Parts: sequence; structure tokens; C-alpha cells
Amino acid sequence: MAARECTRCSELAATRTSVVFGAGNADAELMFVGEAPGANEDLQGLPFVGAAGKLLEQLLAEIGLSRSEVFIANVLKCRPPGNRDPQPGEIENCKPYLVRQIELIEPRVICTLGNFATKLLRGDPAGITRVHGAPEVRTIGDHTFRLYPLFHPAAALYTPSTLVTLRADFERLPAILALPPAPPAAPAPTVEIEPIEVAAELDPRAEQLGLF
Ligand code: URA
Repeated sequence: MAARECTRCSELAATRTSVVFGAGNADAELMFVGEAPGANEDLQGLPFVGAAGKLLEQLLAEIGLSRSEVFIANVLKCRPPGNRDPQPGEIENCKPYLVRQIELIEPRVICTLGNFATKLLRGDPAGITRVHGAPEVRTIGDHTFRLYPLFHPAAALYTPSTLVTLRADFERLPAILALPPAPPAAPAPTVEIEPIEVAAELDPRAEQLGLF
């Protein structure tokens, strides 16, 4: 899977400067997933290097963490032109890269930043206003972790009350990181299959009963 040469989204491949795969500690216990690169990220090839990234760094510092200790990625690895919203087809195209990142990094906690990452990784349309600040155990690919939805820092830059909420949710992160590793999801129950082929051979009435 070579993200750097990816052309799955023809418009994004044609307009990007760089593929912003992600950055940070590949062994991190804590991973952040934002929406998509913006203009600065596209130019530098790194996630969250603009104003929203500065706020993210500040919030991390307030809980004693630096960005080099965590891993930061996005739902989309390429900038949507004009910073438009990611489109459903683009999210689907890019999802395997994010799933593989999660499987390789194996973080204990993943913070989804904003609606796009939250809806994608929760697999549910519930919006961030409803689900932020509530950790839940999730399994993606072969990895089980605690998912902790947060408001996107870009939203907090423009709305002071959102910043208050984001900061309060951030303050609970150390306690969530200190929880024991998330237990793997229960395996799907095995269903006993009636040996009807055998029954059919032994009992000619099986055919009449519509079993075949
Ligand atoms: N916003 C995002 O969601 N991701 C970035 O990388 C930068 C800003």
C-alpha cells in the first residue's frame, strides 16, 4: 500500500502538493485522528502544523505530553481543494491507510477530532456534540482500543465555549490512558450448523421438507 503515490481520489491526487500520512511516535499509546490536511499541512507534508495544531500542542502540554510522544493522523491523507469537506468516496478510499496505521501503532487510546473522524471510527452517524468526552471500547482491524471523541481544535479556535469543553475533555485523558488495556471484543458466537446433508442422505423425507 503506497500512500505516497496513491491516485484513488483523482481530484485530490491532481491538486495535492504532498500526501500527509501522519507523524509522531510510531509506538505511541495515544493517537489523534483529525479530518484532512489543510494548506499548511499540504505544503509541509505534516499534520496539524497550522493554528489548530498549535492549540493541539498547547492542550497536550497542559496534560504533560508533547506531540513527539503521540501519533497524529487524519481521515484523509490529501488536502481537499479549498479545504472543502471530505466526500464519502474519499473517506472510503483512504480508510484502509488509517486502519493499517491503527494496526501498526496499536495505541491504547485514539482521540477522534471532530465529526469526520468520530463518525468513521465509531461507525455511527452520531455527531461530536452528542458523543464527545465519552470513552468507549472499539475494535478496528485486529486492534482493540479506547476511542475518545473530542471536538476538533479548529472549532475551538473560533468558539470559546467549545474550547472550554475541549479542555475539560482533554483533562480526563490521563485517567483514560491509565486504564488497563481495553479488553478484546467478545468473539462472534459460533453457530451450530445442523448436519442436514447427512440427514438428507439418511432420511429421504428431508427433500420433501424443502431442506434442499
Ligand atoms: N485539521 C485537520 O483535521 N488535520 C490537519 O492535519 C490540520 C488541520
